[in-house]
Amino acid sequence: MKVVILGGGFAGIHLAKALVKQDNVEVHLVDKNNYNFFPPLLYQVSTAFIESYNISYPFRRMFQNKKNFIFHMGTVLNINTQEHYIVTTHERIDYDKVVLAMGCDTNYFGNETLAREAMPMKSIHDAINLRNHLLLMLEEASRLPEADIQPYTQIVIAGGGPTGVEIAGMLAEMQREIIPKDYSEKICKHIKIYLVDMDSVLLRAMSEKAGKEAFEVLSKLGIQIKLNVAVKNYENNKVYFSDNEVIESHTLIWASGVRAIDVPGIPASSIAKNGRIYVNEYNNVLGLEDVYCLGDQCLMQGDPDYEKGHPQLAQVAIQQGNLLAQNLRHLSKNQPLEPFRYVNKGSMAIIAKYKAVVDLPKGFFKGFFAWLVWLFIHLIPIAGFRNKVKLFFSWSWSFLTNDPTLRLIIRPRKKYFPEEQPPHQ
Ligand SMILES: Cc1cc2nc3c(=O)[nH]c(=O)nc-3n(C[C@H](O)[C@H](O)[C@H](O)COP(=O)(O)OP(=O)(O)OC[C@H]3O[C@@H](n4cnc5c(N)ncnc54)[C@H](O)[C@@H]3O)c2cc1C
Repeated sequence: MKVVILGGGFAGIHLAKALVKQDNVEVHLVDKNNYNFFPPLLYQVSTAFIESYNISYPFRRMFQNKKNFIFHMGTVLNINTQEHYIVTTHERIDYDKVVLAMGCDTNYFGNETLAREAMPMKSIHDAINLRNHLLLMLEEASRLPEADIQPYTQIVIAGGGPTGVEIAGMLAEMQREIIPKDYSEKICKHIKIYLVDMDSVLLRAMSEKAGKEAFEVLSKLGIQIKLNVAVKNYENNKVYFSDNEVIESHTLIWASGVRAIDVPGIPASSIAKNGRIYVNEYNNVLGLEDVYCLGDQCLMQGDPDYEKGHPQLAQVAIQQGNLLAQNLRHLSKNQPLEPFRYVNKGSMAIIAKYKAVVDLPKGFFKGFFAWLVWLFIHLIPIAGFRNKVKLFFSWSWSFLTNDPTLRLIIRPRKKYFPEEQPPHQ
């Protein structure tokens, strides 16, 4: 059986790792990048706290020596469900079973100016881009007279969910501990960080206690929190808010919404709100026998505890990937399939150095112990033993010295020299 997995994130990788153990399966993995990465730590890359390679791992290395595994680098363009093939930017791949696991992209809710000007936080590219931008703004500010500095040192974060809260806390730490080491007092005193959300609380998806704790800790760190306020527009480096305030800033970080990746060829009747694809409790796309969808990209009907669908979290994707591997084996042996039931193991967010919040199914805790638990839990799933050790070392160094990565501004060249032309051009 030839199984083609589209997307090597949490869901795709767990499915692929389980499927390569089955002798009768040929596993093809398609991804637009040649590496898997760990989104929960992107904010630490974008604030120059750790390096991008601490949280990324190449697929070919991950599946070295697996004879029934084939990797295809390419962006998925469409799917033909009648003739059983998919098309990427480079090739056509036929399948017996296809699994969509391409997750989500940033949602700007149709605002083209925001899409062009705001800085997303969804990928390694986004995180490196933001890190370079933040450092460049500080360089720019250091060349200017004091009266002109503020637009370069004011940062607006749209979205008070875990990503917005975590990046706000990290930027506040940077402002306090790291930037004063490299830049003059003139720059430091003009840094101002705004965290904005349309909702009346932070961390809406977590408990009330977690939201309150985040609000208190971030306020103490000097973050300007604006709740019940939306970003309406962003033009000419001015952020326009729904309460009519306007803030001059070269940096609007968009941590506000997601939309599932569109796959032309999936019938419109199978697509729900926010682009998510309807699946039954076996992750089978409704109405399409050999097409499955996992993780953030799907919206499952049939789990009694999650009638409106599951939250878009890593654990949901992992558990669905593992179960689908088991169910595909059962299917090939004509055995009964097991329906998916999400086991909620809790959720957590880091707010600042030594401060985190943890919601468990039966309780809540916060503070230093929660922070330690957060670090431990986020170290375990990092791909590759070498990466785990490096990340542990990076964290220890960064937290103890308050002087993390070297904060180099390294940007790709826009043009290739002729001898470096990529082969497909
Ligand atoms: C900044 C951030 C922080 C987060 N923090 C947490 C957290 O603390 N805890 C938590 O539980 N969840 C967190 N999440 C959510 C979590 O990352 C997702 O729920 C999880 O990644 C979903 O897994 P997935 O496999 O469905 O998709 P993903 O992990 O997003 O994987 C999708 C894969 O598809 C590939 N892909 C996408 N489009 C294409 C295409 N057109 N062609 C080919 N390949 C494609 C991508 O390169 C990627 O490898 C966070 C997300 C972000 C962005």
